[in-house]
Amino acid sequence: MKTALVTGASRGIGTACAIALAKSGYNIILNYNKSEEKAKNLAKIIADNYAVDVMVSKADVSDKAEVDDMVKEALSHFGHIDVLVNNAGVSLSKLFTDTTEKEWSDIIAINLTSVYNVTHAVLPSMISSHSGSVINISSMWGQVGASCEVAYSASKAGVIGLTKALAKEVAPSNIRVNCVAPGVIMTDMMSEYSDDDLELIKEEIPMCEFGTGKNVADAVAFLASVKAHYITGQVISVNGGMVV
Ligand code: NAP
Repeated sequence: MKTALVTGASRGIGTACAIALAKSGYNIILNYNKSEEKAKNLAKIIADNYAVDVMVSKADVSDKAEVDDMVKEALSHFGHIDVLVNNAGVSLSKLFTDTTEKEWSDIIAINLTSVYNVTHAVLPSMISSHSGSVINISSMWGQVGASCEVAYSASKAGVIGLTKALAKEVAPSNIRVNCVAPGVIMTDMMSEYSDDDLELIKEEIPMCEFGTGKNVADAVAFLASVKAHYITGQVISVNGGMVV
């Protein structure tokens, strides 16, 4: 039975990805950092509804030592990790000139260095089994840049660059590396916006609706599956037409 590790699975898009992959029959490693109760509740939902094994694992993905411990524990329990979803992330909305050095380095650490940390820990086992799929959650702002979200946009553009380069490097080992670039998805990450702001944002979306975690998770489950066998190094946009 195949196993998937989803980072930042305690809330939002990560929760939806974990459910979609459990539904597809993967054993799941649910990573969380702060939301322990939510992660444990999700583990119970998955265990009650799908015939898969679930492990809950706390690690700050920006901390290489914590990530190495998490992956070691997961590999000793499951023996292999077949799908890695690098989803954990944070946003930051402020003027570039007001962004402190610490805010800059924190967002790069959590959104980009984390992808290095987790992928670096998981890849050796994928290389030995000559198979694997890594799916990185970027953002449409990593594709086109957002005003007042320079640090976030830079971190997410970095994820796209990492994805494309690594895809070429590990393709001969039969490992695929792809990105999903969501548009505006209704999760806690959007809670800083007022209803008025959200209405204005919605007007920018050609499909006139916000996305859901499930919309993103469906793309992730597709990229994980054999149906995506010949797809690597790609950025799949899930954004209702907001960036085309
Ligand atoms: P969310 O609801 O705020 O959830 C963020 C998740 O990331 C939580 O599970 C959180 O876990 C986890 N996380 C944050 N920092 C972490 C750390 N240091 N170590 C481990 N886990 C950490 O956000 P979301 O909307 O689902 O976003 C998920 C991903 O999609 C992010 O990479 C985000 O940039 C991207 N994205 C979101 C949107 C959107 O509109 N929502 C659009 C484009 C891209 P804990 O609570 O346990 O700490």
